[in-house]
Amino acid sequence: MHEITLIPGDGIGPEVTDAARAVIEAAGVQVQWDVRPAGMKVGEETGNPLPESVFDSIARTRIALKGPTATPFGEAYRVERKTKRADGGAETRVYPSVAIALRKELELYANVRPVKSYPGVASRYSGVDIVLFRENSEDLYLGRERMVDDDTAEALKIITRGATQRMAKFSADYMQRLGRKRVTIGHKSNVLKLTDGLFLKTSLEVLAGYPGITADSRVIDALCMELVLKPESFDCLLLANLYGDIVSDLLAGVVGGLGLAPGANLGNDYAMFEAVHGTAPDIAGKDMANPLSMILSSVMLLRYIGEAAAADRVDAALSKVLVEKRDVTRDLGGEAGTKRMTAAIVEKLQKH
Ligand code: ATP
Repeated sequence: MHEITLIPGDGIGPEVTDAARAVIEAAGVQVQWDVRPAGMKVGEETGNPLPESVFDSIARTRIALKGPTATPFGEAYRVERKTKRADGGAETRVYPSVAIALRKELELYANVRPVKSYPGVASRYSGVDIVLFRENSEDLYLGRERMVDDDTAEALKIITRGATQRMAKFSADYMQRLGRKRVTIGHKSNVLKLTDGLFLKTSLEVLAGYPGITADSRVIDALCMELVLKPESFDCLLLANLYGDIVSDLLAGVVGGLGLAPGANLGNDYAMFEAVHGTAPDIAGKDMANPLSMILSSVMLLRYIGEAAAADRVDAALSKVLVEKRDVTRDLGGEAGTKRMTAAIVEKLQKH
């Protein structure tokens, strides 16, 4: 029996996490779910979008499956975590979103986002199979912004040697486990000579210590163009936080949309699995969301907890549903709702 924290999230979050949960259970994996709501709705109801009980739960389970949580536009929205310091004093740390607060507080410094062409999914490309590694702990995502005066806003971009070394090493170790051989570092060090320059130089230094891995680099804008022209020619990508966020969505589009893009946030102590997409308010509550990003995130979760055979079964079941095209959601050209697509995957799992 595995105990896993489940954060249903906002918007389509509850629908797609329900789907993931049903599929994991149909794969025969025994899970005790500790359901811990967080997000905008919780914030509106309680005044705190990220209750301390979420951290208490993850401290125990060490693993979370997280639905998307809404981040409203506007300066007023902040996520705070109040903790006690060793000397007994109080400390409040402030973040721009629930997802960023969780990643930072749990030190989930590595974001792994696999992007793959699936048979049966209409897309302009085939044969795409890329693993994107996104540094999750620094860069412009620290949310350190301020108004310098009424007409000038400033944001701090921080890149450190330590976090970059940790991320490059994580990526190389992960690649070795997957048997992957080539990694391309995206950067803008021709303009951001110090920050992106440090990211590029440090990553190359670390990767040079792995004889089985070839590392090359591209300026981020040129990388985007090449990814659109010939995505099948890339193996792995290593990117700082903001570029990683943007290129993840670009690649999701390359293989058929945000409905097919899973992700894992990993650190030394905890792991949190979440889809690349957001809360999709335009289709929330309408049984229209494609549950696959969350189900594919669960496949990553199953491998992480040592349930590789179950992960393979889920992958095979969802691939069959995609190829048959009968029970797929609208974004994939079908007419099924979230529930029908999930039921089709569950049925395939129960048959085998
Ligand atoms: P957020 O503010 O939470 O990021 P958003 O709508 O700005 O929400 P996404 O949730 O990533 O961003 O959605 C972008 C577009 O992709 C929307 O039109 C949405 O309906 C669509 N989309 C996202 N996820 C899915 C999904 N799982 N299935 C179908 N369509 C999706």
